[in-house]
Amino acid sequence: MKTRSFLFVLAKISVISTMIFSGWLYIFCQEVRPPIKKGIPKGSKIIDGDILVAEDFHPKVATAWKVSFWPNGVVPYFWGESVSEDEKPKMWAAMREWEHVANIDFQEYEGTPAVTDYFIRIESGDKNHSYVGRIYMAHELMIANWDDKYKICHELGHALGFYHEQSRADRDNYVTIVEENIQPGEFDPNFIIPDDVNSYGPYDFKSVMHYNQCEFNVCEPHWCMPCADGVYRPSIRVKPGYEQWQDTIGQRNYLSFWDKRVMSFLYSQSSWIFFDVAGGYKDTDFPEGSFLYPYTSFNQDMAATVPEGGVAWIQPGSYASAGVYSRAMRIIAPLGGVILR
Ligand SMILES: [Zn+2]
Repeated sequence: MKTRSFLFVLAKISVISTMIFSGWLYIFCQEVRPPIKKGIPKGSKIIDGDILVAEDFHPKVATAWKVSFWPNGVVPYFWGESVSEDEKPKMWAAMREWEHVANIDFQEYEGTPAVTDYFIRIESGDKNHSYVGRIYMAHELMIANWDDKYKICHELGHALGFYHEQSRADRDNYVTIVEENIQPGEFDPNFIIPDDVNSYGPYDFKSVMHYNQCEFNVCEPHWCMPCADGVYRPSIRVKPGYEQWQDTIGQRNYLSFWDKRVMSFLYSQSSWIFFDVAGGYKDTDFPEGSFLYPYTSFNQDMAATVPEGGVAWIQPGSYASAGVYSRAMRIIAPLGGVILR
């Protein structure tokens, strides 16, 4: 079989000029920033406004929608040549937001990337976009809004495995997608609910991963309150009873409580063990007792897997748990509705 090889060009672009002055040879190395990066990587396309996927991808193809997470929360990253020194601390500040709430460690990639490596290549460009989860080698994360820390957090949220909040299967109970206010041709694939998308906790209007109410609406250049003709045409309208959230959706000012909690579960502490009588997501790629592959019963045997002083996170349900427990642990039922009998 023929092996395909990829060549990564890592050389900085520099202009080297020489001049003779007073008998001495001076070499000037002047770093020149390349023109702003535009467009999307070859072989990819954008869905949902800022999510990069393979060209032949469709969100209704369930097998292609499966997210790969970063083992042990270690996320190697590599600076593309388009990123300036001024921009790097802005990325670090956004990375720290996620590192602060979950077992995540962004690590600057050292050396020359190999074909078999997984890492994020950060670029500066005219768009914000990212792939979802861990993508083999060529994971480009592009930022245009460098002065907007939580827009960077949003893209990092994708890179860590988050989709958009309004992609949840239950979103039609909370928001109405107003199709007549959406630009022609933008409903699919920017507003459909993908197959097999997982969600946790209450619908989160405050999520940093939610679209704003004007996303893809017909009032270009992109605001709907009101359109140029004075009419308000939101692409997303919250359902009656939730009106107080209409102006909140799409916020990019903070990570919400549930953004932080779910990320902390996906990249959890080693002393945390998860229990879900309903079986949770049953993703056997993960170790038993993890958030995505929880134990389905809470009894003495299962409880013994919680480290001394650790936390047992229990999903709603009734668990046969009678017995004598000698190990100290905290039991937390974040969504309530748990009976230990
Ligand atoms: Zn996004």
